[in-house]
Amino acid sequence: MTLTVESLKTTDTHCPYCALQCGITLDPSPGAEAREPVLLSGRDFETNRGALCRKGYSAGNLLNHPERISTPLRRRTDGGFDPVSWEDALDEIAQQATRIRTQHGADAVAVFGAGGLTNEKAYQLGKFARLALGTSRIDYNGRFCMSSAAAAGNRAFGLDRGLPFPLADLDNASMILLLGSNVAETMPPFVRHLRNARDCGGLVVVDPRRSLTAELCAEGSGWHLQPTPGTDLELLLGLAHVLLSENLIDEDYLSTRTLGLASLRASVNPWWPERVATITGVPASEIRRTARALAAAASEAKTGGGPVYILTGRGVEQHANGTDTTTAAINIALLLGLPGTLGGGFGTITGQGNGQGGREHGQKSDQLPGYRKITDPSHRAHVAKVWGIDPEIIPGPGIPATELLHTLGTADGAKMLLVHGSNPALSSPDASKVIAGLRRLDFLVVCDFFLSETAAEADLVLPVLQWAEEEGTMTNLEGRVLRRRAALRPPAGARSELWILTELAKRLDAPGSFSADAREVFEELRLASAGGLADYSGIDWDDLDQGAAIYWPCPSSKTLNHTPGKRSGTPRLFLDGFAYPDALARLIPLYPGTSRPALHAPGKLALVTGRLLEHYQSGTQTRRVAELNAAAPEARLEIHPGTARAHGIRDGQRVAVRNERGEVVARATLSTAVRLDTVFLPFHFAGEQNANLLTDSTVDPISAMPEFKNASVSLHPLGDE
Ligand code: SF4
Repeated sequence: MTLTVESLKTTDTHCPYCALQCGITLDPSPGAEAREPVLLSGRDFETNRGALCRKGYSAGNLLNHPERISTPLRRRTDGGFDPVSWEDALDEIAQQATRIRTQHGADAVAVFGAGGLTNEKAYQLGKFARLALGTSRIDYNGRFCMSSAAAAGNRAFGLDRGLPFPLADLDNASMILLLGSNVAETMPPFVRHLRNARDCGGLVVVDPRRSLTAELCAEGSGWHLQPTPGTDLELLLGLAHVLLSENLIDEDYLSTRTLGLASLRASVNPWWPERVATITGVPASEIRRTARALAAAASEAKTGGGPVYILTGRGVEQHANGTDTTTAAINIALLLGLPGTLGGGFGTITGQGNGQGGREHGQKSDQLPGYRKITDPSHRAHVAKVWGIDPEIIPGPGIPATELLHTLGTADGAKMLLVHGSNPALSSPDASKVIAGLRRLDFLVVCDFFLSETAAEADLVLPVLQWAEEEGTMTNLEGRVLRRRAALRPPAGARSELWILTELAKRLDAPGSFSADAREVFEELRLASAGGLADYSGIDWDDLDQGAAIYWPCPSSKTLNHTPGKRSGTPRLFLDGFAYPDALARLIPLYPGTSRPALHAPGKLALVTGRLLEHYQSGTQTRRVAELNAAAPEARLEIHPGTARAHGIRDGQRVAVRNERGEVVARATLSTAVRLDTVFLPFHFAGEQNANLLTDSTVDPISAMPEFKNASVSLHPLGDE
């Protein structure tokens, strides 16, 4: 079946994929009447300046896709699906939720959200879970994405905003230390913001793999540090040791803007470069060179030189010590006197399209809108007032994603799950446990526009709108709130998640009010966020409509004397102090070894997972775009030629990658980009190529981030069938 969408008007909007949220213009197709696909071009927005990556250029192909779901689907007993009416589907969900709550209690129904949902959907989903279902069990896939970086930002600065400065500030940087991020593949237009640092010879990339981004550090552009997987924390402690032992720190800044220097100094004493080199594999000379270069650049930045930035990505954050590792990177930035100045700073590069907004509005198990804490009585009272309910109605904190998903269908776990915009069967750690849990459930509902691997397990699948068919707001990696706009009339059978939640809330007789209108939900979100750390109360929908992209916090006091369409919110955080009552940042002493799994047993290899240029997240969308799939049709196991030789593996040969959790089968690509002790798999593929069948579900004790980036595996060459 071929689905069609009808073009309405030329519309400026943003890419549906990553957190760069590149500006896109959608044009009415000249062949709209003939039902041609939509025309799409990059437009001049600060993050992309007209450029798009190949994912963005081909995003229009998702809209008319023949595999798009066009009606609610109900599972038959033989495993297939039959179409059902919306009325019947919604009635059945409400009946099942009521039955299961009556039999097992409210927490037997759980909700799983996503960092790709608009702000309004994320907000309404959290409200729906707590008021309509009365469950504490809501969490989202951002737990697997930004949770450790968010926890680190909160404890060091008192506030988490991915980039606390405009992305364009990087354009003048003299030096950038980029840890665990492959922006050249994940968000290629980002690379142009690295240009000045490269020209200054100051781009330093830390990655166990020589990624495309690491290759930017060619001779004269910077250098690449290639640590043993899982040792980023020790490497950062080694850098801190050099800064402190050689007195390369900004003492004025530290004494006036931070707390905790003495404790930090004591904690890094044992991490001298020669010791760190034996753990990380990074030579002591390179550790000293990097620390000294950072200190020199930071010093020059204070006397007119270009600013200096330290940036982290999932490579260092997706570990069972991810909060400590990101904190160690922040410690370096603070020792250099960078955060909260115009001379540079620390930032973390958010990945999912609304990874920033998705973590602010209450779809996290421990959080209410506006970054409010669900355990804080005054926070609960504020949100309850906006919702028009008694605070007692709001359940307490739930459980984080890995625990929620790994206990599905068990005696203590949820019996029913509603999944919105996520594909946990593929994207969760130790994924076979999640697939088994999904199959144990009494009832599984999935909202998606394609039959993802999770939707394929569902009892009911509800078809939803896509990016170019819906109104709403997103918050990009800079903390800028921007408009997603409807340019196309959606297929007749699809509905918005806001409508679905509103209809379900009615059937469940939920307290409070729900709306299917994105602007109405945004207006309520503004009130709920008012006075919180992520304050949207001064952000005006009409301003966003006029093309403004506004940085939070934007309290309503900032609306005074503003010029319509020109309001900017707060582009740079912390210039007047950090978000603690005393305005001081916290240096946190760190003691490695307390929270990470053991490194590899003898004879095992480290499995590192990551992304490809052509694919996004679990690949539900991009694997269905013909040109992307043609360019990257399968997972390839990157393996060093020396390792391949030792295992008797040829280039192109099928290899079973195994550990105690499962097995992945993929063809080998021999490459010196990976270390001798490491293999690499992309995580976008399904079935026997699902890299998360091997990843470790040990979680960070602070953020509950799983250990995605460092699993022990063995290799077994297979025949070439
Ligand atoms: Fe831009 Fe990211 Fe979309 Fe690529 S995927 S066009 S980098 S927003």
